[in-house]
Amino acid sequence: MDLTWDTGDSWFERTYAVEHAGETVAAFDDQPSLDDLRALSRDYGAPTERLDLWQAGLLCTQCNDEINDRFAANPQGDLLCWDCATDTESHDEHGITVNTDPTKSVMSKSHLHTKSLCDHVINVATGCRHGCEFCYVPTTPAIDSRDEMLAEQANVDDPQTDWGSYLLYRDDLPERLGNILDERDPSERKQTERGRGVVMLSSGTDCYQDRRTAQITRGAVAELITHDIPIRILTRSPAVTRDIDLFQAAGDRITVGSSIPSFDATLVRAMEPNAPPPMTRWQALDELQQAGVSVFVSMSPTYPTMGEDDFHELLSYFRALGEVVVFHEPINPRGANFQQCLSAAKEAGYDDVVEELQQMQDSHQYWVEYALEQLNTVQQVATRFDGLEVHSWPDDELVRSTSGQLRSKLKAMQEAVSPESFSTHATDASPEQSELARDGKSIEHLI
Ligand code: SF4
Ligand SMILES: [Zn+2]
Repeated sequence: MDLTWDTGDSWFERTYAVEHAGETVAAFDDQPSLDDLRALSRDYGAPTERLDLWQAGLLCTQCNDEINDRFAANPQGDLLCWDCATDTESHDEHGITVNTDPTKSVMSKSHLHTKSLCDHVINVATGCRHGCEFCYVPTTPAIDSRDEMLAEQANVDDPQTDWGSYLLYRDDLPERLGNILDERDPSERKQTERGRGVVMLSSGTDCYQDRRTAQITRGAVAELITHDIPIRILTRSPAVTRDIDLFQAAGDRITVGSSIPSFDATLVRAMEPNAPPPMTRWQALDELQQAGVSVFVSMSPTYPTMGEDDFHELLSYFRALGEVVVFHEPINPRGANFQQCLSAAKEAGYDDVVEELQQMQDSHQYWVEYALEQLNTVQQVATRFDGLEVHSWPDDELVRSTSGQLRSKLKAMQEAVSPESFSTHATDASPEQSELARDGKSIEHLI
């Protein structure tokens, strides 16, 4: 698939055409928008084919310079050269301040191998429309140390409390990723036992939260597939199913998952104000699984009022997906985001959740016992579902707060590799993950 162009009466009056398999599939008298070009790429190319927008004869709609390097789009979707893009004022899109992310970052090394998720992450944007109350992202350096940039690009006063109200896109990420992957020696990429060289989209934003992020994601995933790199997609957005063709092209080198902490839609809406309801996420995973795509669920963070029956219901639904890997993590009472969870639960009228969260905040021991109880209950309930492995994520602080045999078991859980191989379908379960379950219900003596 190629983008070709011709000059008209003057140098900057250009007509464009997209050709595929020797035929013109689209023609434009004026320059197409970024959205048009990304949509054409998806509609006419093979799944992993991508129209490269560098050196394609496209012009900046503001200064008319030819786009031969970095670019972005303005609020109307018109292409801009990098100088014009970074000078453009932010705009309001249904209550979210939107602009271009000036970062150079494309693919970063990640510590998420400690959760057996990946060795690298690609974030398609800075900020996230979903605005989850428990989100740890605004406390990380990727946001926390960029307050000046966020103030300039999106009028952000406080990156933490304004979280969910700003979004800066990385439109040219697919082009830059393609270049980097072509140029860099693959042997220099990080590859740990638990991370397996996997690249995850996205850890700091939702990579399918809207059409524009989905377009960036598709381009990035196409590049990763072309370079035979294992991929993990994590999203709360059912729109992920738009790329089933692409995931099928990746075969066993990709797994696609969603966070589903609970099916209580009202509680989830209180904690994840702008994210799609949990059942729609499950339906998306079901559709993906039926299309032959490997799926996983992140059951995180689970709430303190949840017990055996809730976990049984969740795991029944997950088991119904067929072959699936479940990750589990109880909520951790840390930082300003925990206070926001408390306020959100209070506002939604969840007095029992408020009471439990409050106790966890007031008493470290209360939290330790709650977290152990939940990890154990989930592992216990999982044994009722033949072949369903839950990969638990015991928090570092939880491990530090325990001793002896229990501490060793929790450490072993932390160090276990998830039962995903990224070359064939799921591998065997890790025995370390069900250690707590083997202790029956009597973990109290180990605390
Ligand atoms: S979807 Fe993920 S990145 Fe976005 S706010 Fe929620 S937890 Fe944070
Ligand atoms: Zn320009």
